[in-house]
Amino acid sequence: MSLHGSYDPDNLFAKILRGEISCVKVFEDDAALAFMDIFPQSRGHVLVVPKGVSARNFLELPRDRIGPYLERVQRVAVAVEKALQPDGVQIMQFNGAPAGQTVFHLHFHVIPRYEGVQLAGHGQGKKAEAAELAAIAKEIAAAL
Ligand code: 5GP
Repeated sequence: MSLHGSYDPDNLFAKILRGEISCVKVFEDDAALAFMDIFPQSRGHVLVVPKGVSARNFLELPRDRIGPYLERVQRVAVAVEKALQPDGVQIMQFNGAPAGQTVFHLHFHVIPRYEGVQLAGHGQGKKAEAAELAAIAKEIAAAL
């Protein structure tokens, strides 16, 4: 899918937002939902998606939603740092398939980085065990 086109209301994250597909939740309020990536690129990889918008990517996010949404992204990143104590935190976001985007509802990746630990490739993470993700999500949520 290109950078241009229309929003598909049946994309994976829209279904997760509607509760039609389950996720391991970290945080939710009126502006955003944060949940664990099931193919984590590192331990504690969280996705943060905006709620109440039909934005496929960051370019399409209405200006008045940018502040509230990015505030949630930062809040999750701070909690990830506090809970998991990584050596770095990488925040990634892709717009359009050629840029690496695979799910077409806007999302930011919050990826803890650990000294000496190589990052799994984007979209090449191994599927994580639900129980393991739930334990990590609990730790992050407690640090929010
Ligand atoms: P993108 O490639 O669009 O930037 O990121 C999509 C992300 O969604 C990838 O990191 C991928 O691992 C993750 N993902 C794919 N399918 C699922 C799923 O069913 N549940 C969750 N929680 N994450 C998923």
